[in-house]
Amino acid sequence: MTKDNPNSPDLKSGKGSKDYSKYFDFSDAKVLSEDEFGKRIRIKGREINIMSEPNHRQEKQRGKEDVQVLYGNVVPDELRSIGEGKHYIIYTFGCQMNEHDTETIKGLLEQMGYRGTEDRKVADIILLNTCAIRENAEDRVFGELGHLMHLKTEKPDLLLGVCGCMAQEENVVNRILQKHGFVDIIFGTHNIHRLPFLVKEALFSKELVVDVWSKEGDIIENLPKKREGMKAWVNIMYGCDKFCTYCIVPFTRGKERSRRPEDVIAEVRDLARQGFKEVTLLGQNVNAYGKDFTDITYSFGDLMDDMRLIDIPRVRFTTSHPRDFDDQLISVLAKGGNLVEHVHLPVQSGSTEVLKKMSRKYSRDRYLELAHKIKVAIPNVGLTTDIIVGFPGETDEQFEDTMTLVNEIGYDSAFTFIYSPREGTPAAIMEDNVPMEVKKERLQRLNKAIEDNSRMNNEKMQGKIVEVLVEGESKNNEAVLAGRTRSNRLVHFVGSKDLIGTLVNVEISEVKTWYIKGEIVTESIAVNS
Ligand code: SAM
Ligand code: SF4
Repeated sequence: MTKDNPNSPDLKSGKGSKDYSKYFDFSDAKVLSEDEFGKRIRIKGREINIMSEPNHRQEKQRGKEDVQVLYGNVVPDELRSIGEGKHYIIYTFGCQMNEHDTETIKGLLEQMGYRGTEDRKVADIILLNTCAIRENAEDRVFGELGHLMHLKTEKPDLLLGVCGCMAQEENVVNRILQKHGFVDIIFGTHNIHRLPFLVKEALFSKELVVDVWSKEGDIIENLPKKREGMKAWVNIMYGCDKFCTYCIVPFTRGKERSRRPEDVIAEVRDLARQGFKEVTLLGQNVNAYGKDFTDITYSFGDLMDDMRLIDIPRVRFTTSHPRDFDDQLISVLAKGGNLVEHVHLPVQSGSTEVLKKMSRKYSRDRYLELAHKIKVAIPNVGLTTDIIVGFPGETDEQFEDTMTLVNEIGYDSAFTFIYSPREGTPAAIMEDNVPMEVKKERLQRLNKAIEDNSRMNNEKMQGKIVEVLVEGESKNNEAVLAGRTRSNRLVHFVGSKDLIGTLVNVEISEVKTWYIKGEIVTESIAVNS
């Protein structure tokens, strides 16, 4: 699962900061009108309706204003048929949070009558749901926009939209306005529920519609979602208040807001009733869940304890922040049942000095102590992590601290990244004297260590019987089924296609680096066993 893209411009270029000033040159823009509903401007012949635009300074502020939870119907009757006979495609970049937002966007479009397609020529609306976490993610989106420009020329009625984390960035929105004026809609992460109105506005006005909220606004419940398969994501909270110095997320996703426990529980119960076999509770720092409630005391540990009572075979969560991972949660997870033995615990670095510069608010020792506690309380736990190499000024010794930590913990897998400077974050202006060549070598050594640990852990599985949720055919061999253990290891085995979507017991007979092979022992075991 080591996940840096060897083709990423990050790795190739070694670029530091970019000159964005050209995207802020609006000398050729003409303001047509301005009122309480926004601003109308014209750039290079294209009329643009800016209802609201991103502002980094506002995105950073954490106001005390109450977050309301709104329940209601977000697609009014008059918009329920404007997509009839029309088709959509959504390209999603980035993390599970974005994947899940895409499910909501699809749900909204389907309520408007649109249907999904994979054929670009058939599509009437194409949206890019974007990721801003590293520069290479952004470059891929601009590359994709380049391809879509040709399609738009052939099919002028096609609606093209950019949404997600990149849309929350000032420089990205300005760059689109200046260089990609063929885009029709730009909206951010806080106002997905406004999509039906924005589509209508873009369709009827033919203007480029920009509606990006810098402030997070309220929690909107009852948004329609188009989920597929047997596994479902459930947001338990939005935003992040941690402000790690390298990270853009607190700007693009706003302040921490927890959904009410009764709403989360009702959603998971409903998914269980629909036959889903696994849910993953999502948040940027799930361990901060509930800290913003002013009327009740209810923590992430409490929520997980309530999850145990729901008749769904597996409950996972991501992502944990080591600083907020408390003993209550460990003792709840140790109860097992449908709470699976997998903890994704991003460490980022094994050096206390680097962790300090990252503002992670824990030390190497504190992290090791926490990982040890988790391993003792939850035997067979699968620990996975995220690691950044080449943080500004990272010395050889500091990198060696990461290597020794990785070998001491023995992770099952890790997402590893070369540090990518993000405009507006504190780390982007830190002095960085580490050459890109050195960063690449470090990444390679780290990936090798992760691989070795994964294989060693897999070898310990030899001969054991594990519970597998059968997810489908293996990607490379349709005669083989693929599924995941409770600790999230990938398992391949031969079996009937009827088993897809069920839990089976598999005896491990052969191990590889990133997956294990086995033979089926018990077909379709009971739920919650
Ligand atoms: N909230 C999670 C946490 O605290 O670990 C993860 C959020 S982020 C979507 C996923 C991962 O991207 C982070 O854990 C970090 O390793 C990586 N990441 C974030 N900003 C980065 C940057 N500027 N350069 C390289 N990697 C970055
Ligand atoms: Fe980013 Fe840190 Fe928040 Fe994770 S905890 S989203 S790395 S700021």
